[in-house]
Amino acid sequence: MPPMVPGTRLAELAAEAAGCTRCPLAATRTQVVFGVGDPGADLMFVGEAPGRDEDLQGVPFVGRSGQLLDRLLAEEVGLGREAVYIANVVKCRPPDNRDPKPDEIAACRPYLEEQVALIAPKVVVTLGNFATRLLLDTDQGITKLRGRSYPVGATQLVPTFHPAAALRGGGVVLAQMRADLVRAKQLTGRTP
Ligand code: URA
Repeated sequence: MPPMVPGTRLAELAAEAAGCTRCPLAATRTQVVFGVGDPGADLMFVGEAPGRDEDLQGVPFVGRSGQLLDRLLAEEVGLGREAVYIANVVKCRPPDNRDPKPDEIAACRPYLEEQVALIAPKVVVTLGNFATRLLLDTDQGITKLRGRSYPVGATQLVPTFHPAAALRGGGVVLAQMRADLVRAKQLTGRTP
């Protein structure tokens, strides 16, 4: 479980989520993967849903995608994962890593919205279509949306590819992800 200050609303929300039965994924998960990192982070990442490794460990982005995310975070932003906050659109693993369904996303949405509100990061990087579409409230795809930032309340949203797309798609996708992370870093005000 993530280090979380007992008694805070974020810790309370994580405890609520741990017993969640709002959607059918409750029946097949090993555990809820709520989120990890610094609750006061300037930079937050939102992925899609836990995979097998995440479901077993209870921590987001610990499999191959997560290793790539950690590398890009270190190389382009100069931060370790403990300095940011990482969560997913859906907190429970969809069976066989299928896409999350609309009713699952809708049931889980209040957790993510409250996480973003409580953490209040300067910048949210959305990883892939599910997070980007949900938080930008659009049907457009990531290829079209990435390459710029979008103000959402007091936060700047920076859409980028899901690391799994970079693992599949190779150099071009990876280079675009790197550029997006540099944009995110600049928006947090971090230098150099
Ligand atoms: N992919 C995601 O979108 N989230 C994870 O936590 C792991 C893989």
